[in-house]
Amino acid sequence: MSRSARRAPALASCVLLALALTACSGGGSGGGVEGTAGGSGVGDPYFPKAGNGGYDVTHYDLKLAYDPDRHHLSGTAGITARATKDLSAFDLDLKGLDVESVTVEGKDARGGRSGQELTVRPRDELAEGDTFRVKVRYSGTPVTITDPDHSEEGWLRTADGALALGEPTGSMAWFPGNHHPSDKASYDIAVTVPKGLEAVSNGELRSRRTSGGRTTFTWHTAEPMASYVAMLAIGHYDISTTTIGEDELPVYTAVDPEQADASRKVLAKIPEIMEWATYNFGPYPFSSTGAVVDREDDAGYDLETQNRPVFTGAPDTETLVHELVHQWFGDSVTPKSWRDMWLNEGFATYAEWLWQEDNGGDSTQDIFDALYRGDYFDNAKANKEIWAFPPAKPSSAAHISDKPVYWRGAMVIHKIRQTVGDDAFYDIVQGWAAAHRHPADHAADAGSGPPTCGVVVGCRLPHARLRSRGGTPTTPLTWVDESPLPSCDLIRRTGP
Ligand SMILES: [Zn+2]
Repeated sequence: MSRSARRAPALASCVLLALALTACSGGGSGGGVEGTAGGSGVGDPYFPKAGNGGYDVTHYDLKLAYDPDRHHLSGTAGITARATKDLSAFDLDLKGLDVESVTVEGKDARGGRSGQELTVRPRDELAEGDTFRVKVRYSGTPVTITDPDHSEEGWLRTADGALALGEPTGSMAWFPGNHHPSDKASYDIAVTVPKGLEAVSNGELRSRRTSGGRTTFTWHTAEPMASYVAMLAIGHYDISTTTIGEDELPVYTAVDPEQADASRKVLAKIPEIMEWATYNFGPYPFSSTGAVVDREDDAGYDLETQNRPVFTGAPDTETLVHELVHQWFGDSVTPKSWRDMWLNEGFATYAEWLWQEDNGGDSTQDIFDALYRGDYFDNAKANKEIWAFPPAKPSSAAHISDKPVYWRGAMVIHKIRQTVGDDAFYDIVQGWAAAHRHPADHAADAGSGPPTCGVVVGCRLPHARLRSRGGTPTTPLTWVDESPLPSCDLIRRTGP
């Protein structure tokens, strides 16, 4: 996400219903099931009900239809998952919408709803290790979710259609699933809209068929995707397709006609930015790239949706860099919990600094120094806000997108670079991106904390201390001025 503030303008734009489940027939007693319930969350420190226990989703097959005039969404979600324990029941996250039926392995299942939890009780036992297929049919008026920080996500109506955005929890407004970044899956998303509208999603467009006044767009995402970066954009768009480089990486951009003129020049930089980012951060982790540009008031922020980020309003170059670099940090390497969002945003923000440094702008050291002195932003309040909390310790869900997560996160990364030197730094960063390249199953990552933190924690430079120390620019921070600097031997061992 980009809600980052820059010098000018001082602050850039960047940033339930509990409906009774229609009873499914033939629920019976659920006899034969010997397992236990999977659980209604995965213990995220900021969003405890996000995600669900007892299974991992491997694939979502979504078939959706949206009528903008009626503001009506109908869908069938086919979910393929693997049980990680013996299950008598499991939850899916879904907000709003009416559930019409649920089947598990083709048999009607019983279910119930409470808040964002859709609890499914299959007829037959699901044993640990079983792969099972769930089908949920649903429809209704999709909801817009207002986050604890007052931003809006989920299903956003736009002047000519809709925009579905999901950080951190909005995807449960348009499909049932295991909505936590620790469970990634591949996706097929088919969207039917009135003829004349476009429907843009993640991955690659496999087909586009018009029949009976409606057009169905089918998108395929092979690389594992966290649901918070799944996206849908429905409306009138100028579509452009091209390729980058010898490998012919497909580029698909969709731009609201109102934003076409303002976007043309900056979107033409996508190939250059992709080449620059690949040089710095290693091979691009996905099969296609691009961008969606909607109108400024459609969301009020930009988001690193997988393959092609969404911008509300034509982005500036640094914002485009920020969201494209998120493809490496945030989309491919994902946080295990929302406490680790500073790793997403720290790297994406630091990429903006690196881009400026490489393109005749301020050096990363100048930016760091100005932030540390407290005169980077035009207003004193903004300069002070950077120090409100350690980046990995927002005080509540309302603060996970605050300045420390972005700016102080980037400062941490700068200190690591300064400590180890450029050669080791880029080895670390590329090794980290390669080692944790879109893992489909985070359950395989043992230990606490984000798998992505391994390298940073290994350095012991900032991370451990960030968790325990606050400070202001006038209170020297251990991670800023500690001498002698800690050993970073562990970094080298976790490199490529
Ligand atoms: Zn971001």
